[in-house]
Amino acid sequence: MNTSIIKGWLMLMIIFATGCSDLESPTGSGDSNMERRDWAIAIHGGAGYFGEKDLTDEQERAYTESLSAALSIGEEMLAAGSGAVDVVESVIRMLEDDSLFNAGRGAVFTAEGVQELDASIADGASRNCGAITGIRGFRHPISVARSVMDSSDHVFFSGHGAGEFALSMGHEEAGDDWFWTQKAFRRYERAKAKSEQKNEGLDKKKGTVGCTVLDQAGHLAAGTSTGGMTYKQHGRIGDSPIIGAGTWADDRSCAISATGWGEYFIRTGVAQDVHGRMLHGKETLAQACRGAIFGEMGELGGDGGVVGVDAKGNIALVCNSSGMFRAWAIPTERGVAMFGATLEGTVEVH
Ligand code: ASP
Repeated sequence: MNTSIIKGWLMLMIIFATGCSDLESPTGSGDSNMERRDWAIAIHGGAGYFGEKDLTDEQERAYTESLSAALSIGEEMLAAGSGAVDVVESVIRMLEDDSLFNAGRGAVFTAEGVQELDASIADGASRNCGAITGIRGFRHPISVARSVMDSSDHVFFSGHGAGEFALSMGHEEAGDDWFWTQKAFRRYERAKAKSEQKNEGLDKKKGTVGCTVLDQAGHLAAGTSTGGMTYKQHGRIGDSPIIGAGTWADDRSCAISATGWGEYFIRTGVAQDVHGRMLHGKETLAQACRGAIFGEMGELGGDGGVVGVDAKGNIALVCNSSGMFRAWAIPTERGVAMFGATLEGTVEVH
């Protein structure tokens, strides 16, 4: 039996032994003698409380195809030697154009019935980063965040200023009709009706997108893009554009992208918590993700998850909610999954 088949079986055994909320690649144990993998990638399309019964076969197929297509872009680029930041940006741009997800096209509506988008990107080699919050009218928020990182003296722009900056950098504009989808608008109307009746409209729609990568040069990068939460108050900022909460990359430790109830991820600084546990506490990626999600964020009452890769190409996909749209690949295996407690039939290992 060749080694990739053995690795595949090992991974399957780990997956079935651990259940969904704690997935890791075969060597996700962080064995320090492990050789660095050529490359690794992990992406998510949002976490939340959903299971097999909540999606029709058609929806399940659509999510699988979208996640797999985004993963393929990353795999091809990584195999060809592209840099981690370029891969993260390209994968997220694709997911931003996919109306299945709550990012770019298909983003959720605020309480005022508009779409205010957040994104961030981090480069583990330079430990530089860029983020934008509350931006309107630009097709690819992740690329605006990248320009903030590469071409400004700052790391974080908000609202109108973010828009002016995006314009000055020549980013593609897009009108309301590009971002608008029936699905997001229905959610908004439902949340509005609920809010008018009981003053509780905030809806944790899943669908934020994120990508974490180790490239062939050994560099890490992470990015996250979202519309936030349906019926969020004007000006509300979630974790996704906050470096240290929703996104983190440092070549010495890990690349992390989070998704879930943003307020809790901010309160416990989830992405940087994973990094600190690894760098200072010498935890493995999987241990650190577990600690940050279950031990800290979850303890406060929040829900959601992270995907991450470390400097050796270990991958961890950890969530305390019942589902997280996710996909991952290393040179010898790839997988797409979405559901919680049991993974039967939802994970492919090649
Ligand atoms: N974390 C995002 C926010 O709070 C939402 C999500 O990931 O579903 O804005």
